Amino acid sequence: MMTYDLHTHSTASDGTLAPAALVERAAAAGVHVLALTDHDCTTGLAAATAAASRCGIRLIPGVEVSVTWGGRTVHIVGLGVDPACSALASGLAQLLEYRTWRAAEIGRRLAQAGFPGALEGARAHSNGTLIGRTHFARFLVERGAATDLRAVFRRFLVEGKPGHVPGKWVDLPTAIGWIRAAGGEAVIAHPARYKFAAAKLRRFIGEFRECGGRGIEVVSGSHSRDDYFVYARHAREHRLLASAGSDYHGPDNPWVELGRLAPLPDGCTPIWSLPGFAPLATAAVA
Ligand code: AMP
Ligand code: MN
Ligand code: MN
Ligand code: MN
Repeated sequence: MMTYDLHTHSTASDGTLAPAALVERAAAAGVHVLALTDHDCTTGLAAATAAASRCGIRLIPGVEVSVTWGGRTVHIVGLGVDPACSALASGLAQLLEYRTWRAAEIGRRLAQAGFPGALEGARAHSNGTLIGRTHFARFLVERGAATDLRAVFRRFLVEGKPGHVPGKWVDLPTAIGWIRAAGGEAVIAHPARYKFAAAKLRRFIGEFRECGGRGIEVVSGSHSRDDYFVYARHAREHRLLASAGSDYHGPDNPWVELGRLAPLPDGCTPIWSLPGFAPLATAAVA
C-alpha cells in the first residue's frame, strides 16, 4: 500500500513546521507521496524538494490558491506546478499584495475591537511576508481572547465578526489558468467546507470543469466519513479525479496527522493515477 497526502502547509504560509521538517515528519509517518500546498505561495517548495530527495519520498510541488466565487472564498489546490512559471508567479504576487493590505485592515478592525498591535502580533507568528488569519488567531489566543484557534475564528475572524474582511481573491478561471500554465492539475479543496446547496455545488463543479479543473478532494482532514462518500459520488458523476489530503498545519493541531488518511471509497479514480504522481522507485512496498 502506498500512502499519499496531497494537501499540507508549512511556515511558508500558515503551517508551523518548516518545509524540511514537514517532509521529514511525513516520511517518518510512512508517506510515500507528499504535496506541499501552501496558501498563495510556492516559497517552501525548494527546501521541501531537497528534503524529500534526502528522505527518499516523492514531493509534488503544489499551491492552494484563494479564489472568490459566487461571493464566497473557495480554495483550489494546484498539484505538480512549476513555481518558475511567470503566469503563476505574477498571479501569486498579486494575491500576496492583497493579503498584505487585508492584514493591515484586519489589524485596524481588531484594534477597534480592543486588540491593539494585532498586525505586529500576527506578523510575529508568520514568516514576515505572508500573513493570514491563522497568524491573527495565534496572536489572539496568546492574548487570551479565546482558548483555542477554533474559538478565536468563531468569535473574531469569520463573517459578521469584528476582525473579518470580506475576501477579494482571484476568480476561478484565472486561478485554474495559472495552475495549468504552470503545468499543474487543479483540484477543488475540501468541498464539504463550503456547505453549498446542491444546485450551487453543481454550478461550481460545472464551471470548474469547463475551465480545465480535473480533481476534487474526497478524503480530507476537514471532511467527515459521510463526506467521503458524498464527494466520491460527485467525483464519479462529474468524472473528476479523486484526491486525498490531510490539510496538515502542524503538530499543534493534533486532530489531523500526516499520512493517517482513510482510503478513497471504491469507484474513485485517484488523481495519483496520472503520470507524475508515482512513488519513487526506491519506496519500500509494505
Ligand atoms: P486566510 O487564507 O488567511 O483567510 O486563512 C484561511 C486559513 O485559516 C485556513 O486555511 C485555515 O488554516 C484557517 N481557518 C479557517 N477557518 C478556521 C477555523 N474555523 N478554525 C481554525 N482554523 C481556521
Ligand atoms: Mn491554512
Ligand atoms: Mn483551504
Ligand atoms: Mn489548506
